[in-house]
Amino acid sequence: MDFSLSEEHFAVRETARTFAKTELLPGVIERDELQKFPKEQVAKLGELGFLGMMVDPSYGGSGMDAVSYVIAIEEIAKIDASAAVVMSVNNSLVCWGLEKYGTEEQKQKYLKPLASGQKLGAFALSEPEAGSDATHQQTSALDKGDHYLLNGTKNWITNGGSSDYVIVIAHTFPELAHKGINAFVVEKGWDGFTIAPKENKMGIRSSDTHQLLFNDVKIPKSNLIPPDKGGFKFAMETLNGGRIGIAAQALGIAAGAYELSLQYAKERKTFGKPLSQHQAIQFKLADMATQIEAARLLCYKAAFLKDTHQDYSIASATAKLFASKVAMDVTVEAVQIHGGYGYVKEFHVERLMRDAKITQIYEGTSEIQKMVISRSLLK
Ligand SMILES: Cc1cc2nc3c(=O)[nH]c(=O)nc-3n(C[C@H](O)[C@H](O)[C@H](O)COP(=O)(O)OP(=O)(O)OC[C@H]3O[C@@H](n4cnc5c(N)ncnc54)[C@H](O)[C@@H]3O)c2cc1C
Repeated sequence: MDFSLSEEHFAVRETARTFAKTELLPGVIERDELQKFPKEQVAKLGELGFLGMMVDPSYGGSGMDAVSYVIAIEEIAKIDASAAVVMSVNNSLVCWGLEKYGTEEQKQKYLKPLASGQKLGAFALSEPEAGSDATHQQTSALDKGDHYLLNGTKNWITNGGSSDYVIVIAHTFPELAHKGINAFVVEKGWDGFTIAPKENKMGIRSSDTHQLLFNDVKIPKSNLIPPDKGGFKFAMETLNGGRIGIAAQALGIAAGAYELSLQYAKERKTFGKPLSQHQAIQFKLADMATQIEAARLLCYKAAFLKDTHQDYSIASATAKLFASKVAMDVTVEAVQIHGGYGYVKEFHVERLMRDAKITQIYEGTSEIQKMVISRSLLK
């Protein structure tokens, strides 16, 4: 077993780390407070090739492996978890499915600009009445001969207001339940497609979350992502990979909070010595570092399985379940180590604590990950 990273992996880490410190850190508190989408920074992530990291270069991507993707997201999330989810959605939930299942025409028209960062994508599965139970889709895309007619509401869509293209999951054959679901590429600006105001969130506040409403939106036949009736499987497979991205985001949030705490513990003095000289604080740091390393290994393992074309569905669920718990636990301890200073915005850890919570909710809650994992154990 070889735990070492390649030179390419170190180069990706360095690029992502430098970018996060120079481009994301300035203004991260203000963006969080004002819920301001990091538009310029996302454009720069595109220039770095970070929005289509694993896509083949012939389709505008960077042709990197999933381990590089985990490394990059960790570094971005250490500083700005909102930017990390923008990246994760475009890479995992949008580009991946288009590359794997899209037609050549869809790849030329949509994947190329999405992977090269000229356009941004969103993935719309959740609905007001269909979150954990994604089979309960109410949105319909009925076959009207020369087009599909899309009607319904999608909830909590990341990049909802800022994306150019949205992959929408909808029923074409309601009578077939989840076996009648399809996936479509829908363009922003089409008649009948409206975007509700931005959600006012606890964390990842500068990411852009909206409800999307479709009222008699005409979708050209060529925008169905094949195969016909394959939309549910498409969505579930997409989320398997997406969970690696969210696990890496959780890892980054935890690692960012830990690094800030380590530094702070060396600087802050109480009872005549630095906090880092008190055993209670040392033990907290040791626990944090151990949890983070375990989460990192689970993320790398899931990415490794993906890179080597092995089944990664359980590994990605395990990585997300564990890393998101680590993100919660570590950020709570980070605030504790900072004392009162941890409770105000300038020290970043309160934001990381708020950001951590979402990693236990989206792309399948922790309870859903446990269902996925236990089902495979009991098979
Ligand atoms: C900020 C944000 C961004 C998001 N981005 C996207 C996006 O880009 N695209 C998208 O499609 N969706 C997105 N989502 C939606 C997200 O994936 C759902 O919120 C999530 O899947 C949970 O669904 P729900 O909110 O309907 O909760 P529910 O399904 O109603 O669940 C409520 C609670 O019950 C638990 N629960 C449900 N069923 C069971 C069960 N059988 N056994 C045990 N416990 C259960 C859940 O774990 C949860 O704790 C986003 C959500 C948020 C908040």
